[in-house]
Amino acid sequence: MSLTTYRRKRDFGKTPEPADGELPSSAPAGDHRFVVQRHRATRLHYDFRLEIDGVLASWAVPRGPSLNPADRRMAVHVEDHPLSYFDFEGVIPKGEYGGGDVIVWDWGTFEPEETDNPGRSVGKGELKFRLDGQKLKGRFTLVKTRGYESSQDSWLLIHKKD
Ligand code: MN
Repeated sequence: MSLTTYRRKRDFGKTPEPADGELPSSAPAGDHRFVVQRHRATRLHYDFRLEIDGVLASWAVPRGPSLNPADRRMAVHVEDHPLSYFDFEGVIPKGEYGGGDVIVWDWGTFEPEETDNPGRSVGKGELKFRLDGQKLKGRFTLVKTRGYESSQDSWLLIHKKD
């Protein structure tokens, strides 16, 4: 887990996004937090972020998370974000990386399942967890897909029947 890529992609003189920093005091109490940010960039997507090993492990979900177990939502694993991104809302200027507006769509805590090391599970390509958010609640799996001819780090976000 590293913020090198996050910092390399951004010009902090131009974007209001945080360069670094701690988890904001507004964050829910708990060992593991998650946030979903709606990001109206060139393409609308929802950024799904899990607090793991001192950073926000992040996936861009074009259609957003779904509570329907039949939905398998494509999720592109993107660069880790700093904890201070947790409550970020604002407008990234046009022409900058991710230009567009960002709002917090949901947040809460998550409980990793079948692992005591969620970072290692992400490295292995599958993480199961239970979400307790304002909107999203219940069991989910993030699983890396195989066989796609793509340079993207493609995963699926699936809601398990509770
Ligand atoms: Mn985004």
